[in-house]
Amino acid sequence: MNLRRTLRIFAAILFALACARQARAGAKHVFLFIGDGMGTAQRNASEIFMAGKRTADGDFSPRQSQLAMNSLPVAGEIGTGSLSGVTDSAAAGTALATGRKTKNGAVATDGDGAKFKSIAEIAHENGYKVGIVTSSFFEDATPAAFYAHSDSRGRRYEIGRQLPESGFEYFAGGGFSSPKGKDKKMRSLVEIAASKGYRVASTRAGFDSLSPGGRAISTSPGARAGYMPWAIDAAQNDISLAEFVKKGIDLLGGGSFFIMAEGGKIDLACHANDAATAIREVIALDEAVETALAFLAEHPDDTLIVVTSDHETGGMALSVAPDGKDAFYGAMSRQMGSYQRFESSVGQPGAKGFEGHLARARDFFGDGVTETGATRTALAMTATPKKDRPVKSAQYKKLYGPYDPFTTACVREMNARAGVTWSTFYHTGKRVAVSAAGAGAEAFAGEYENTEIFRKLLDAMGIGAAR
Ligand SMILES: [Zn+2]
Repeated sequence: MNLRRTLRIFAAILFALACARQARAGAKHVFLFIGDGMGTAQRNASEIFMAGKRTADGDFSPRQSQLAMNSLPVAGEIGTGSLSGVTDSAAAGTALATGRKTKNGAVATDGDGAKFKSIAEIAHENGYKVGIVTSSFFEDATPAAFYAHSDSRGRRYEIGRQLPESGFEYFAGGGFSSPKGKDKKMRSLVEIAASKGYRVASTRAGFDSLSPGGRAISTSPGARAGYMPWAIDAAQNDISLAEFVKKGIDLLGGGSFFIMAEGGKIDLACHANDAATAIREVIALDEAVETALAFLAEHPDDTLIVVTSDHETGGMALSVAPDGKDAFYGAMSRQMGSYQRFESSVGQPGAKGFEGHLARARDFFGDGVTETGATRTALAMTATPKKDRPVKSAQYKKLYGPYDPFTTACVREMNARAGVTWSTFYHTGKRVAVSAAGAGAEAFAGEYENTEIFRKLLDAMGIGAAR
């Protein structure tokens, strides 16, 4: 698998370099990958993890890069700030999708009713078929910025109603978060989409049988509340982000297409400061990038791939691990599942006492979780009913944010022993990386604001003058 992966990436790079040199406009097959919350440290952590895995697998061949996205020939960096300061995914999604800065919370609008047209909408008007893929839910801010317009990202039903109106050919990923609205009394968004001519597949068999022609919605069989399962927790039969992207290529690939694919849960894992889970989400996105690279290798003259992020989450930092040089891969590969799985099934207080809980935490996260005052205090806090916790105190917020105290203490301690530290449970103002390959990729080099991605994509597609 590693050798194949290496060869595939190598072949794709050669093609990418060849096309970058041609500097031609008019990309007919465009992939925009967005790692939500994916800063440089998240990419580097995943790179180091992959290197560790390769070594553990006994593969010592020299290798420039472990991640496909880090191997693309063109590199840039974008500023992510919104009109509100540190951005949220709505304002950042709007900037990437429409080329306009806006307030946090606004989805492809100015926040006061004025709509901004998205790159996906413009591409569609220009004859491109459009696919929107996300491991999050369809009404979430990042995908929504490409097909919908709303002054508030919270109006999920209103956003979901606009999905079939877009006429875009393919939507795939977690699904709708609340198909019948907040009060569950509205007409199902799935039903509405079906009535507008969308084929809807929600099983593996349904996914497999989707064939080109018409419009389609494909959702993950393991999805919960519209989220795809965590890559670290996913069952064998779940459909991966890479498979959803590959299906998009199969369905739309006859002519021009624009596919936006989002690794939507990197952000969530980083909010929770859970590096092992975030790394698997980055790798899941990277496998989707590989799928696009394979397509680029077959269509080198008119395919463009751009990989970027909307913002960084967590203020993730990598340093030398106090537990030694192998501690990082050891700890990250050892963790048995996501913070969410630990919290919901393993870490809840019962009659086991501190020792019992500590044993279960070590079972799940590894030996990086130790018996410190911090874990003891955190477990006591988890055992305290939510209404009785000092959730408003600065100290509580700093230690646990909005998360389960015991889970958070375990995750943070294990991460710190592996050399991974976090400065916040929220977004940061860090600049994020842009990587590009293929037709028109060279325009993505350098330092600029996130809004430029929109213009550069239009120019690369040769429809810059038409807008
Ligand atoms: Zn976030």
